[in-house]
Amino acid sequence: MGYQMTRAQADAQFRRWTEQYEVYAPMLMKGEGCFSDTDIIRYGKPASLDEIEWAEKSDYSFKEVLIAINETLFYYTEDQTILPKGPEKEILIFLRSCDLHAVKRLDQIYLHNGNPDFYYNRVREKAKFILMGCPATCASGFCVSMGTNTTDAYNAYLKLDGDKVYVDIRDEALVGFAADAAAADVTPDFVTENEEKVTLPKKLSNESFTKEIWQEYGARCIGCGRCNFACPTCTCFTMQDIFYQDNPRAGERRRVWASCQVEGFDEIAGGIKFRKTQGDQMRFKVMHKIYDFEKRFGYPMCVGCGRCDDICPEYISYSNLVNRLAKEEEEG
Ligand code: SF4
Ligand code: SF4
Repeated sequence: MGYQMTRAQADAQFRRWTEQYEVYAPMLMKGEGCFSDTDIIRYGKPASLDEIEWAEKSDYSFKEVLIAINETLFYYTEDQTILPKGPEKEILIFLRSCDLHAVKRLDQIYLHNGNPDFYYNRVREKAKFILMGCPATCASGFCVSMGTNTTDAYNAYLKLDGDKVYVDIRDEALVGFAADAAAADVTPDFVTENEEKVTLPKKLSNESFTKEIWQEYGARCIGCGRCNFACPTCTCFTMQDIFYQDNPRAGERRRVWASCQVEGFDEIAGGIKFRKTQGDQMRFKVMHKIYDFEKRFGYPMCVGCGRCDDICPEYISYSNLVNRLAKEEEEG
């Protein structure tokens, strides 16, 4: 159901949301970028609609709301384990269409790929999604190529337009936001064309694993893992056991985000490594995004957000790599 309201009405309703829910949205964090004197857009808890970054795509995604970067799974003492509390309030997450498609990928891995993950599930079942429109394409995204430029899987859509705010509410529990608002036709802003276009190779196979291109791109990679951490669809983590200094028989087990591009990711007991070069790791990442995942679940893992291209300190372009694979395939 669509509504039009004044900015003052929307501000007042948003304040109520921040009391009732944990609200997360992209925010400009000044001076907190990776390099000195740089800013970053990442997820935080805005106190008002003004604190949300509406114009630019976030550098890091909503993912850290659903999967904490560093999460304690349990605390242990000599004779018991204690489970940390899950979220008490419901959660509202502001995000764009490509990222809402990424939620489907996270659900696929954490909920529909064997036993559902307890920790993910208890956050996910409290989460609702507020769609932010894209009136124009971002520079590096290729959502149209990936079919993630539109969605109807949101709980509500919000658009600020000067003194007016347009809302489309699909979830009855959120209808209160539009109390006293006038009914209106509201259609979300979706892009229909990106500057960046990507063609997925369609004939990838196990033979594609030996291509020269992996070593070429891998040679530039420094294995920092930023591409994985910025990617809304990467889901790997590693385990850490923390032993408290004052009593080493007590501590906690944490899971922490991991990156398949970082040295040691695939090393197992006996020092055995499956992917021996940075090129092998690059191949693993890219093939997972556009081949293995699709083979298993029927759709690609990548949603075309473009963040991995934006964030790479070595200017390695994943989208160029994929396009080159498709071109090589076409040229036979
Ligand atoms: S692989 Fe790159 S473009 Fe694709 S979803 Fe991940 S960060 Fe976005
Ligand atoms: S961000 Fe770039 S350099 Fe860092 S691991 Fe990813 S591809 Fe390699």
